[in-house]
Amino acid sequence: MLLSKFKGSALAALAGDCIGARYESMWRPVAYQTLLNLEENLKSAEKTSRRSLHYTDDTEMAHELAKSLVENGKFVAKDVASKFTETFFESPPYRYYGPHVRNVFEKLEKASRFSDLFGPASEQFDGQGSYGNGSAMRVFPVALFCHGNQELLEKLAALSAKLTHAHIDAINGAKLQASAVEIALSSSDGSISWLEFWQKLKDLIDKLEVDVPEKVYTNKLDMIKELIAREEVASVHEFEDEVGTGIKASEAVCAAIYAFLMCLADRQPSELSSLSKVQQVVFYSISLGGDTDTIGTMAGAIAGAFYGDEGLPSYWLYAFEGAEMARDLATKLHELNEKKNRDISQKQCRLS
Ligand SMILES: [Mg+2]
Repeated sequence: MLLSKFKGSALAALAGDCIGARYESMWRPVAYQTLLNLEENLKSAEKTSRRSLHYTDDTEMAHELAKSLVENGKFVAKDVASKFTETFFESPPYRYYGPHVRNVFEKLEKASRFSDLFGPASEQFDGQGSYGNGSAMRVFPVALFCHGNQELLEKLAALSAKLTHAHIDAINGAKLQASAVEIALSSSDGSISWLEFWQKLKDLIDKLEVDVPEKVYTNKLDMIKELIAREEVASVHEFEDEVGTGIKASEAVCAAIYAFLMCLADRQPSELSSLSKVQQVVFYSISLGGDTDTIGTMAGAIAGAFYGDEGLPSYWLYAFEGAEMARDLATKLHELNEKKNRDISQKQCRLS
């Protein structure tokens, strides 16, 4: 079951990125029927074996991070930074990297030759660092790698964030998103209510947002709870006003969490009811509009980790560029996890 969750997380994250990228530049809610029409078109991918949708920077960076963790068996900041940089300079235009991150990669490679790994990101935006969602969009492999070890998860989420996004909101966003994936890995459908899931995230944020200028995640999580508990489902415009769906980490991470929790609370739109639970989360998250590929990829990572890969349609494996890589990396991260557990139990046997 755990392998299914690892693969589900990686594949649904990829799907959210690839599908969401179609609507990224619209900056308005996406109609359910538009998404259902796209899903219908994807079905032909299995017959033609033709990849129809490209992934973007979210998946590219997540896969580079995952490759580094698999190759090294641990987090090596210099290797992650050089992998990020190398792929950035080789990437085709349809990866759609944000405009400011080029500056970080140029400094990392040319100015410091990877001797100062965290300096370039901390110098961004007059020394404030970026609070964009780029740190959280790629963090799910950290959750898979650290499964069962929350302390390590928070440490590596922060380190991986700081390579490009040094603002506290970007760092906390990476920790929150990775923790949501970890909670999803550690629980199953029927074993946890949406409110219990929400409470675990709130407990984490209460711990993280102590000495911060503004408790952005605390406020947005409180709003999410209120919106889900309401009798009438909030309109996407109201959600946009109250929580947001933009490029700030605090908005995109909370939008992804909201989409997942809405489905867990069984409050997803009836228009999507013909789809599997994972698909419903991915499509509902993209329907919110805004930074759709990033919200889609993060919502997908959580939903896939919760429901596993059984609910994913087989044609998704053919429809998206990078699907084999996603599955392969998830399998290798799962093997690492199994090995770590074997090592721990052998050590305990020797000690007893
Ligand atoms: Mg993107």
